[in-house]
Amino acid sequence: MIALRDVCKFYGPFQALTDVNLDIRQGERVVVCGPSGSGKSTMIRCINRLEEHDTGSIIVDGVELDEETRNIRAVRQDVGMVFQQFNLFPHLTVLENLTIGPIRVRRMGRAQAEALGRKFLDRVHIPEQADKYPAQLSGGQQQRVAIARALCMEPRIMLFDEPTSALDPEMINEVLDVMVELAGTGMTMVVVTHEMGFARKVADRIVFMEAGRIVEAAPPEKFFSAP
Ligand code: ADP
Ligand code: ADP
Repeated sequence: MIALRDVCKFYGPFQALTDVNLDIRQGERVVVCGPSGSGKSTMIRCINRLEEHDTGSIIVDGVELDEETRNIRAVRQDVGMVFQQFNLFPHLTVLENLTIGPIRVRRMGRAQAEALGRKFLDRVHIPEQADKYPAQLSGGQQQRVAIARALCMEPRIMLFDEPTSALDPEMINEVLDVMVELAGTGMTMVVVTHEMGFARKVADRIVFMEAGRIVEAAPPEKFFSAP
């Protein structure tokens, strides 16, 4: 589903990724962890082309990501992304945040897009918030809207970049629970997180990064069992 081969990425003279190799199968859940600045965010941003890698190759769902910009649209539709900051449009209601992608990008009619939006709002357990504005919601609710918004594009892969790091502690679980449920649907997921309880519960594999390299990749049992 996702294949990274010898991927290198520079920011000016600074090398953020060095020879990153990773294969992710359809339906697999991979948790990426490691210290701050180790390249976790850069790696997943390269997968949906928010960043461009410099050398090596990245193939996402059969499409090679190269300099040809024509790939970007297809890749973005295939790969949903949830950020640390929820990145909702503040001037749009929750339902409008959910329907804008389906209407503008997928060319769906409004009624169909709204039905889809309500379906995914149900899926993240906040159907009653459809007509609120993001600022009227808690952080945990906003992040669940952000997850629903990504799902409205009906992606085949979901990327999460520290989705609970900006949340107050009491809201972390309501977001993680939604992610656990999503994992249960068979979605292919790549999750950058420090939440090891989540990793232990849903990860098929944990990838540990350090200084721009993958230094370990193994099933959670290997990380959590005593040496
Ligand atoms: P992580 O997600 O593991 O915290 P990042 O991928 O965000 O790490 O960053 C890896 C390194 O690359 C860090 O040293 C960071 O400062 C640097 N970096 C990230 N984005 C940029 C950028 N746009 N320009 C320059 N350096 C960057
Ligand atoms: P994250 O760890 O979630 O990537 P950061 O705070 O590291 O969050 O980065 C936030 C934004 O700042 C990103 O767009 C990243 O590319 C950019 N950034 C990070 N480090 C640098 C840097 N040293 N120089 C320029 N931009 C950076």
